[in-house]
Amino acid sequence: MTPAETEVAELCSELIRVDTSNYGDGSGPGERAAAEIVMARLAEVGAEATYVESAPGRGNVVTRIEGSDPGLPALLVHGHLDVVPANAADWTVDPFAGEIRDGYIWGRGAVDMKDMDAMMLAVLRQMATEGRKPRRDVVFAWVADEEAGGEYGAKYLTAKHPELFDGVDHAISEVGGYSLEVDPSLRLYLIETAQKGLSWMRLVAGGTAGHGSMLNSDNAVTEVAKAVARLGSHEWPLNLTPTVRRFLSEVADAFGLPFDPEDPAPIIEAIGPLARFVGATLRHTTNPTMLAAGYKANVIPGQASAVVDGRFLPGLEEEFLSTVDELLGPDVRREYITHDIALETTFDGELVESMIAALKAEDPTARAVPYCMSGGTDNKTFFADLNIRGFGFVPLRLPAEMDFAAMFHGVDERVPVDALRFGTRVLDRLLTNY
Ligand SMILES: [Zn+2]
Repeated sequence: MTPAETEVAELCSELIRVDTSNYGDGSGPGERAAAEIVMARLAEVGAEATYVESAPGRGNVVTRIEGSDPGLPALLVHGHLDVVPANAADWTVDPFAGEIRDGYIWGRGAVDMKDMDAMMLAVLRQMATEGRKPRRDVVFAWVADEEAGGEYGAKYLTAKHPELFDGVDHAISEVGGYSLEVDPSLRLYLIETAQKGLSWMRLVAGGTAGHGSMLNSDNAVTEVAKAVARLGSHEWPLNLTPTVRRFLSEVADAFGLPFDPEDPAPIIEAIGPLARFVGATLRHTTNPTMLAAGYKANVIPGQASAVVDGRFLPGLEEEFLSTVDELLGPDVRREYITHDIALETTFDGELVESMIAALKAEDPTARAVPYCMSGGTDNKTFFADLNIRGFGFVPLRLPAEMDFAAMFHGVDERVPVDALRFGTRVLDRLLTNY
């Protein structure tokens, strides 16, 4: 085993043992203690890093490893150090013990994403110890606050310290690179090349306030309820973006299914639980999530509001919003709570070729396919602003029976030790050859 393979599980466990729960209201312990571990492990191999604290306790670590060919643009490899909270009572193990048992590392962050944080660290440490250089400059970033929008992490770094990313034109990070076993001779590796956009909208209706016992034909609650019902029950039509189309046709081919763009349901079914990652990428979605109006049973309020979580497909934002407005009608206005772009890149270029080659070298049954995520990551929200083209690539060769999608923010989150070792080998090859 390589040094990186030998130590990656323990590094991951060590990071999991630091509770970096991000509650989104600033009440968590912060990422500083985890960032200090990263700094210490880097210092051990003589790697200098920049520590950036965006707010007390909110730690970020960035380091740049010089490549053997400094003329090439740099690659960014980033991972977030925060995790979503875990309710220990629901778990079979202590979510913050970093237990290694039955071939798995257990704990909050094991797949999202202290696995990658540890793989980055292990590979960098091995390269530094052996005096090997990556081909091009590689910027490694361990960032804070991804789980609550990135304000204290990627957003802060890209806004206040863009120089840390000088010369970077491509990035890899979560959520992609994991395998889906079709049969023992074929594993698909899903590489994320697209992310849906996000539009959290507050709907507001005004009306005539008055006594609940009297006639009222201008009731704000009724208006907002009708709009919510229209949006929530709207059947958004199938709309296959280039990434989704390619993904479906590749999966159909792998499973020996026909590819019918009018009826992709059997293809989505074939990928089992991973459908959770891609099921919502075939169309826009609008899910009502909050309602607010009134203060007393017999008082008709003058205003009512609701919140809708809208997710739109890359390249189709205007079409999405105009349909939303049609559905809302003239009596309900909308305002954004949060609005974020959708992004899609093509599945080609030198980085893609290098990812494919690194996967195939370590797993001859590998076939890489691009896919679109229904959520968003730091790649889209912040690093894209620096014109960095991002991919979801955390290489993990997973056991066929593993319900990987359930691990994200899930109970008993865990990752196979063997998958992490595989990941370090792929990552090492990628950095060495790309
Ligand atoms: Zn994550």
